[in-house]
This record gives sequence, structure tokens and C-alpha cells, in this order.
Amino acid sequence: MSGSEAADAKKLVRSASGLRMVPELPSGLEENQKSPSCPRCMQCDTKFDFITRKHHCRRCGKCFCDKCCSKKVPLPRMCFVDPVRQCAECALISQKETEFYDKQLKVLMNGASFFVTLGTSDKSELMVCRLSNNQRYLVLDGNSHYEIEIVQISTVQILTEGFTPGGNTRAIGMILQYKVPGSEELTQMKFTASEDYSSNKKLSASWLAAMHKATKLLYESRDQ
Ligand SMILES: [Zn+2]
Ligand SMILES: [Zn+2]
Repeated sequence: MSGSEAADAKKLVRSASGLRMVPELPSGLEENQKSPSCPRCMQCDTKFDFITRKHHCRRCGKCFCDKCCSKKVPLPRMCFVDPVRQCAECALISQKETEFYDKQLKVLMNGASFFVTLGTSDKSELMVCRLSNNQRYLVLDGNSHYEIEIVQISTVQILTEGFTPGGNTRAIGMILQYKVPGSEELTQMKFTASEDYSSNKKLSASWLAAMHKATKLLYESRDQ
């Protein structure tokens, strides 16, 4: 087992809304504040009393009656381990997000091959790049071996070429900038999709697309 698979800097936190698996590192992933005073359901306008109890959506924090906030849906971006109560609108978004996220993660964990260039070197090495099982490291394997911690990556730039008949650009590479622990300077790594087989090229392109989407989600959740 490599170091990246063993390291798991997450801790289990018991919050009022359920168990959360929270990264040990500081991040912006806080639970939404409950709406303070709220006499009526924000969806159906039913007044709350002893019988009609108030519930709050774990995603948007607004308050609803039981009927309007009954769905329990996974909310991994806010680090909840078990599905949590969400309003209809949020449940739909979370469901889509989870499906989408799972799909991208699978692609990333399966890996793809790239020509990798480190820094300003003009030599490149054919390496298989994949996301580690604990989703915290990018692991590169060729003659050399690299493990880049995701939280150390500061920028991800996807390189594209031309237009496909569908009108979309195709991802052909990526430039990563990341910090090596113990050093203040950023290291740059360039990935170029390998051209040897067309199937390989396709795999690399979908890996890059997944990386692009996953980083977008990652940075969105950091900003929340
Ligand atoms: Zn909601
Ligand atoms: Zn309601």
C-alpha cells in the first residue's frame, strides 16, 4: 500500500444534522445556518405548531413542514456521511450532483495515460495518471512515481484543440500547478494526451473532461 492510500486526513464529526466526514484541513465546508425565526413552511405556507413541526433543509437552510422537506438525499459536498433531509428543490440538485460526481470520480480513478513534463524540462515521460482510492492524491506511474496531494494543487488549466463536429473543443492536455510540501514555490506539470492509439486518446480526453468537471465542483465547494 502506498502512502497516499494509507493517509486519510478526515475525521468523523457528529453534528445536529447527522454524521459528517470532514477533512482535517481547514476548508470552507460549513453547514448552512438554520433560518432563525420562521413561522410558516417556505414552500406550502402551512403554519408551524405542535402538530406541524418545523424542519430545515440541510442544503439551503430554509425551513419547511415535514411534507415539503421529507426527502433524505446524500449530500457529499457538505461532507455528510448519511443521506440528510432536504427540500424538494435541493434534493433534485443534490441527486444530480451525486450521480454526476460519482461518474467523474470513476473515470478519474480508472486513470489514463499521458506524456508528462515536469517544470521547464523538455523531456516527457509516458505515465498513467489516476486518482487515488481515497480521492486525495493524483498518482502518476511510469518509470518515475509521483503523488500529488489534491489540496496542494492551486491551478488546473485544461488545454484544448480545435472544434469537433458537435462544436465542442477537445481536451488534449492539462497544466497543473501545485505546491510540494516544504517548498514555497509552485511546481508545474504538463500532461499531454498520448497519441498512439485512438482509443487511448479518447480515454485521455474523457479523463481530462472529468478532471475539469471535478475541479469545478471542488473549487465551488471551497468558495461556499
Ligand atoms: Zn433546500
Ligand atoms: Zn410545507
